[in-house]
Amino acid sequence: MSTGYLLLDRPQARKQYGIPRRGGTRPSGTMVVHTAEHTPTLIGPDPSAETVAEWLLRRTDAGSYHSLVDSDSIVSLAPTHAETWHETSTNRWAVGISAAVRAAGWAGIPTERRHAIVRNLAEAAAQHARVLRDQYGVTVPAVRITRAQALARVPGFIGHGEIDTGRRSDPGVAFDWTLFLSAYAEAMALPAPPPGPAPSPSAPASGLLEDGMWGAATARALQAVFGTTVDGVVSHQWRSRHNEHLYAAHFDRTKTGSQLIRAMQRWLGVSDDGLCGPGTITALQRRLGTPDDGVISPVSSVVREMQARLNAGTLR
Ligand SMILES: [Zn+2]
Repeated sequence: MSTGYLLLDRPQARKQYGIPRRGGTRPSGTMVVHTAEHTPTLIGPDPSAETVAEWLLRRTDAGSYHSLVDSDSIVSLAPTHAETWHETSTNRWAVGISAAVRAAGWAGIPTERRHAIVRNLAEAAAQHARVLRDQYGVTVPAVRITRAQALARVPGFIGHGEIDTGRRSDPGVAFDWTLFLSAYAEAMALPAPPPGPAPSPSAPASGLLEDGMWGAATARALQAVFGTTVDGVVSHQWRSRHNEHLYAAHFDRTKTGSQLIRAMQRWLGVSDDGLCGPGTITALQRRLGTPDDGVISPVSSVVREMQARLNAGTLR
């Protein structure tokens, strides 16, 4: 008899789900959003989710989701009460939903198809959220949550890359969170999320001084937002005229780079060597709309803009 869930209905090379969840853990309403790193078809019928689903059945390492979508289908892999193997630190209580696209590939998908994928992902989220509401009494609000909240089992949405910051970047910097959350809210008849850029999932309640100087407080606020170790230090930087006024920097000659800068470089879409040099500074200036000369001035307009957005919770 068919359950309607692929992982329950079909044999797999390695069992890709657990019922019950380990330790009998209840799903908490924490939802992790992924991409499956699959190159989608861009025109005509879209077999992407089905293709990835078949591959999940064959793979011999651990890796699965609750639902997998493309532009014209939602593949249900496992029921909400099952555990799937999508995010090591939160699997026991989270639900994992995934789009059969590449995290870095959203911009290459025609708009209509891209919107269809995001809407299907929102509907997949809603399917699980209805179970959470009706069977567990949990409301999943149309909001993004921080890494700390995800680890604390708070209901809401987080990108895989926002939890597993060292290794993952999905669903990608170009993922349309605004459309996703509003489509989800609509599907659940929940209040719509505020329009415009999504509030930072981890905005510091800071009152950061907007003085244009990137010191320890600014570094700490950035580290909170980018999910790296919060110590107020931008470690292992290579000193140049471009970055000598990055006051939180520790300069040395190792070229090891900083985890914070690496995370920011991934967000900016530049190569992630962890060194805040002219290319990274220029990319930051362009992203924040300040003059792009590749230099952090003693009192810097791009740093001031960054501080303002950190205070507003709108940096990313
Ligand atoms: Zn992922």
